[in-house]
This record gives sequence, structure tokens and C-alpha cells, in this order.
Amino acid sequence: MAGSSVAGERLRRRSRRKSGPIRACGALRLGRVTEDRTSDAAPADPPPLGGHHPERDAVAARADGFVAELRDWLRIPSISADPAHHGDVGRSADWLAEALRRDGWPTVEVWADGPALPAVYACWPAADPAAPTVLVYGHHDVQPADPLDAWHHPPFEPTVLGDELHGRGASDDKGQVAMHLLGVRAHLAATGAGAPAVTIKLLVEGEEETGSPNLKSLLADHTDELDCELIVFTDTPLFHRDAPTVCTGQRGVIAAEVVFSGGEIDVHSGRVGGGVPNPATALARLVAALHDEHGRVRLPGFYADVRPPTDAERASYAALPFDEAAWLADTAGGARATVGEAGWTTLERVWVRPTAEVNGLHAGYTGPGVKTIVPADATAKLSFRLVPDQRPELIGAALREFVAEHTPHGILAEVRLRGDGVPPYAVDVEHPANRAVQEALADAFDQPIRFSRTGGSGPAALLHAALGVPIVYFGATLPDDRIHAPNERVVLPVLLRGAEAAAGLWRRLASRTERGQ
Ligand SMILES: [Zn+2]
Repeated sequence: MAGSSVAGERLRRRSRRKSGPIRACGALRLGRVTEDRTSDAAPADPPPLGGHHPERDAVAARADGFVAELRDWLRIPSISADPAHHGDVGRSADWLAEALRRDGWPTVEVWADGPALPAVYACWPAADPAAPTVLVYGHHDVQPADPLDAWHHPPFEPTVLGDELHGRGASDDKGQVAMHLLGVRAHLAATGAGAPAVTIKLLVEGEEETGSPNLKSLLADHTDELDCELIVFTDTPLFHRDAPTVCTGQRGVIAAEVVFSGGEIDVHSGRVGGGVPNPATALARLVAALHDEHGRVRLPGFYADVRPPTDAERASYAALPFDEAAWLADTAGGARATVGEAGWTTLERVWVRPTAEVNGLHAGYTGPGVKTIVPADATAKLSFRLVPDQRPELIGAALREFVAEHTPHGILAEVRLRGDGVPPYAVDVEHPANRAVQEALADAFDQPIRFSRTGGSGPAALLHAALGVPIVYFGATLPDDRIHAPNERVVLPVLLRGAEAAAGLWRRLASRTERGQ
């Protein structure tokens, strides 16, 4: 469902243009990390400035100003989760709107009416009225910065350290939104045109970090302004700085609490224990029954709608330089082994396979010392990561069925779903717009671009459902940017290559897409 059918209707497929070898001059040169609290100078990034790379030249000429500007934006603590910072979310939106106006975007609006925190909308029509319209999605709100004492530099005093810019939002997502601003500047400079090759619209929301609670109504209120042929979703990373990839999907998620209740109150484990059901024991059995011995989830019908990755995608994942030991130590927080569903690699398990996880378990007395009771109730917090074409509401129903089957005599069960969940989304990797992204990244990073996905979730499926057009992912940050964590950073040479790729993308999309049918 996601993407491909609409893509077929609305975007003309063309045979792939690319021929001949992609220049393979290798990885970006990335300097040592050294402290520099004050410099706005972008680190040296010295690939050849040949005449055949006008977008690269245009990015390089604007890099220092870009870093200074991004630091300015990052000083605004636009934390959407904290009502005390909602004024800052508004200031952040105003800052972005001003930057867009300075750049000459003909339409710039801050959408601040309605319940949503301020979002920024902008539009720059193509000179050619027949050119397609592309909507770039991103967000300008950031995660809270706690714990503050874990930051080496204050989170809202953005600091250049060698080739990295540290600060909350540097990677997620202000850095990537700013990358698009620079990309448009470079596109115009490289083409010498006064307007972009496609009509570019921007929607930069202010509530992504709290789960985009009002995005659906925002999209419904502005369907005319947001009308487009394609969405460029910019909130995902590359696989690795030496192995840039195009992301082609995000998992969905649905979370729930399961509560098992026995009696009305905790009771004496000596006088009563052994004579009544223990909710904690019963819940432990339910949790243990969630997976079979092959690591497969046992909810009824759980895999019925799962769309497997294509052979090309699996081959692409297998070719990525995946360092399992490093992944365990860093990304997996020091986990001591990889486990999971039999028949799939670790990357596949976290990208293209659905999961059930226990996020929390609580029952009875957990304070110091001993308290001999049979607890009155027990609670498990569960979440399920979903892949196309699973639907959160069907998985929620399957969970209710599974819990009913595993509720023993004498226990009352309650299943509380947390909201409607987030549907998964995946791109048709052969879609011409996805190929355009792949080629733009290949040109900017001077190497072939494979596919990756991300195991996390985001509002891509919501955007797709609301606007009825396909989505491609376009990002130039890294998985180890410590987003949502202390010392968030963005690697500036990578982000600048991303801006170069963004500049090249508009040129490519103009020749691939067609307005209307
Ligand atoms: Zn984000």
C-alpha cells in the first residue's frame, strides 16, 4: 500500500539514467576533534572543486555562514515536551521564518493557530509552472536536554569541536532542516536561476518530539497549501559516515499496558499465599509466552501482513560494513550478545522485522528489604515495532486476543493501548524519486549509495495518508550523533555533503517527475 501504487499513478517511471561507474574516491576526509568554542568556520572538506561540481562549489562558498546561522538557531531551546519552553518553540519557528524570508522564499508562514505548537510553512514556486511540487518535511522542536551534567558543553551553547557541531538539535532535526535551506541556495547558485527547478514547499513542525499529536489536524487544515506530488522526509540518518545510504523505511509502533489483577489488596503470603492466584506469576507466564523458541512473536496473525524486503534490499544490507562488536558496545548500550528472530541478520531484525518488547514490569513490593505479600496486581508495559503492511489497530486487537488466551482462572485482565500507534512506512526502492535521491547522494558523497532503514518510528505514514503521495527519505546525519542523548552532535562535512546532494536532488526531480498524472 505505502507509496508504490500512488507512485505509479502520479509519477512517471523512467529507465534508470545512471550508467558508468560512480566515482569511488572513497570516504569523506574527517578531521580530528579539537575544541573550538567560538569558530564558525566550517572544517576543511577538500574534495576537488571541479567545474563539474557547481553545487559543491556553491555549498563550500556558503559553508561558514551556514554554520554560524545554524549555531544561532540551536541557541533557542525549542523543547516541545516542556510547557515552560513552548515560547521558545514559537521563537524557533519565527527564527526559521526569518531565515527563509532572508533567502527570498516568496511565501513564508508561521502556522500558530489551532492546538499545535508553531509550524513553519514555506513555498518557492518553480519558474516552470509544469514542474512538479515537492514537500520537504522536518521539525524544529528538540528533545529535553536532561541530564544536563552529562553534557561536555551546555546543550544550548552550540560548540564547534573539530569537524563536529555539538548542541541539542544539531542533528535532530534543525541541522537537517538547515541543510535544506543551504541546499536551495546552492541549487539556485549552481543553476543561476531565480527559482528552483521544482516547486519546493517546506513543512517544519514543532511537535515531532512529542509524537506529532496535532500533525493530522494540521495537515487536514492545510491540504491546499500542502498539495504536492512527492514528500521528502528529512529526519533519518545515513548508515555510516564511510557508507552513506538512502533510508527507505521506518518501523511503526504500538504500545500497551497489560494489567493482571487478583484480589483487591496485597495480602499475607503466609496466611493466603498458595491458596490464590498470584498476578505476578501469571503475568510472567504471559510475558514468557510472547515469543516462541525461534524468536517469533506469538500474537495471533502477527506476521499475516508483513511485506518482506526485496532481494535487492537484503543484498544491500548484507553489503553494508556492519561491525557487530561495535554495534553491541555503542548502539546497543553494551549488550553482550545479539539475539532475535531466526533466519534474519541483526540489521534485518531491527529494520525490516516486527518485534515485541517488554518495556517495563511492575508487581508487588519493590522497596528495600522484605515484604511477604501476594500482590494485588501486576503490570507489563509492552511495545510492538511494526513493519509494512502491519497496522497498529490490528496488532492491538491481536494483543487483546493473546492476553485473553493467557489469562488464567481467577485473574482479571485489562489491556490499555497507548493511543492509536504509528503505522510503518517503506519506500518502493525502485521508485524514480528514490533513485533520484540515491544518485544525488552518490554524486555528493563520491561513492555508491546502498539502502538502509531505521528501526525507529515517525510520521511518514501519517503524511502519506493525509496527502496521498509517495515519500522518499533524505537525510545526512549519522546513527551515532547521540540524538535524544547528551552531547548530540552533527558531523559538519557530512551535513555539507547532504546540502550538496539536496541541491542536486531538485535538478534531478525536475526531470523525473510530472505534475498531475
Ligand atoms: Zn527528529
